Amino acid sequence: MRLLIMGPPGVGKGTQAKGIAEHYGVPAISTGDMFRAMKGADTPLAKQVQEIMNSGALVPDEITDAIVKDRLSQPDAAGGWLLDGYPRALGQVYALDAVLASGEDAIDAVISLTADEEVLVARLLKRAEIEGRADDNAETIKNRMKVYHESTDPLLAIYRDRGLLVEVDGVGGIEEVAGRITAALDAKLA
Ligand code: AMP
Repeated sequence: MRLLIMGPPGVGKGTQAKGIAEHYGVPAISTGDMFRAMKGADTPLAKQVQEIMNSGALVPDEITDAIVKDRLSQPDAAGGWLLDGYPRALGQVYALDAVLASGEDAIDAVISLTADEEVLVARLLKRAEIEGRADDNAETIKNRMKVYHESTDPLLAIYRDRGLLVEVDGVGGIEEVAGRITAALDAKLA
């Protein structure tokens, strides 16, 4: 099973990605988590990534594409994966296509989680209080929403045209949304 999960900041992508990946027995690969893992490392690359994340902008494609390509080549990803937060820009779609074209793998479905922006901003501000994520402040949240609309939202049309998109309402309890996702995937892949 090879899946992508996409959606605006705060829609619950990360939480759902972990549950769905577990359900299908594949690793959940989150570029945001990989970048956060670089936090505190005393290298120019780690510092550059940290600054970009704190502003809510996207890490440059050449860095992001390279870490994803590397991660997908690891043994645990051979049998499938769920990519959370990648691709997020047009160039990344084509970079992923190139990685997949070099092997036998293809994307089975792209989950698009949807929610109203007001609901999302409220969720993110709450998460900021609980988790203290450096990129969950009001200013960065605003910028991440803008970046999402400009760079990532347009990618949904590409996957829709390819017949891969599965749209799921992301508003509700964790279990409720997870149930909707697996039902929608089962229907799509049946
Ligand atoms: P996330 O946890 O998915 O919301 O990602 C947190 C931050 O990591 C984003 O705001 C970006 O700065 C960076 N990031 C994550 N995934 C990508 C990606 N595919 N391309 C560029 N930047 C990314």
